[in-house]
Amino acid sequence: MHAVFASYAKELGCSYIQDEAGNSYLVNDPSDGYCLIASHLDSVIEGGEYDGAAGVIAGLMCLRWARRDGLRVPLRVGAFRCEESSNFGLCTIGSGLITHESYKENIDSLKGKDGRTIAEVFREKGWSLHPKKISGIGEYLEMHIEQGKVLDETKTEVGIVGTIAGPKRYRMYLNGMADHSGATPMSMRNDALCAAAAIILEVERIGHREAAYNSVATVGVLNNAPNVMNVIPGEVTIGIDMRGIQKESLDRMERDLLRAVKSICQFRRIDCRQEKINDVSPIRMSPETEEGLVKAARELGLSFRRMPSGAGHDAMSFPPLCRTGMVFIPCRAGISHNKLEYTTIPSVADGTAVMYRYLKDRYGTR
Ligand SMILES: [Zn+2]
Repeated sequence: MHAVFASYAKELGCSYIQDEAGNSYLVNDPSDGYCLIASHLDSVIEGGEYDGAAGVIAGLMCLRWARRDGLRVPLRVGAFRCEESSNFGLCTIGSGLITHESYKENIDSLKGKDGRTIAEVFREKGWSLHPKKISGIGEYLEMHIEQGKVLDETKTEVGIVGTIAGPKRYRMYLNGMADHSGATPMSMRNDALCAAAAIILEVERIGHREAAYNSVATVGVLNNAPNVMNVIPGEVTIGIDMRGIQKESLDRMERDLLRAVKSICQFRRIDCRQEKINDVSPIRMSPETEEGLVKAARELGLSFRRMPSGAGHDAMSFPPLCRTGMVFIPCRAGISHNKLEYTTIPSVADGTAVMYRYLKDRYGTR
């Protein structure tokens, strides 16, 4: 896909470069102060065709229009690597590495699904896990399919993102006692799966309680051992994912969760080991860019709504470095990370037009 991306350089009158982390760019003018329009080209297994790729296409369209109109700002279109956490368990690796925003800690020993470490893969490709920080960037824009149903259900043409939700994630290892399911009286059990069930429902309640703040809470993964019909479950692992755009709400959810887990496990005589795997504060897009994008949508006569992003995106890494904005387009029935994922070419064109109109308003044309 990066080779296909590079092949557009000639047609668009650009040069192609790759940074030290393997991310690809088309550059129409190498000067500093450029606007980077980017997204990712990797996908989840069994995923769709639009998550990431639609945003890269949007960038290519902007490059073509910029050339036609003589847009007065240098443009770069970027295609990041490893945005999805499917293989190494970490998201936005390509953009996180070059902005030095994520992964300040060492990630060299992370293993992929095939057992190779990310360091081995990077070495083989000639890339670096410790690249120098991106420089000269003046602004970052990204278009992405919403991956939710809000735009589709409300028949809204584009979404302007205000804040990207920060995830708090926990893994809980619940240890009870595996026993014979026939011979162990009800009063003498330490059933780890029942504790997990109580925690799962509590997580749902916590999510509902904080829904007014656009927060969500999910248990999406559970491992039950020994997972046998005639054995009381002794060891259960669950993964808890809480997200929100308000730090206070996220903190409240975390506090409520830990309190509930403690009391459930005490009551059920279950040992619980907790592992916090993620704690990211909500990330605000730049208000000036957000307003500019809203104005652009209005000028184009497109229906729009301001909205948060529940999913993480490459755009998360840029606000500390430069002005950052994000545009959503609808995807059918909100389905994503699935082969049924679908958006229309007119939607891609709408989202792109909003970004481009914003750039024209802000920088002008020759
Ligand atoms: Zn994506």
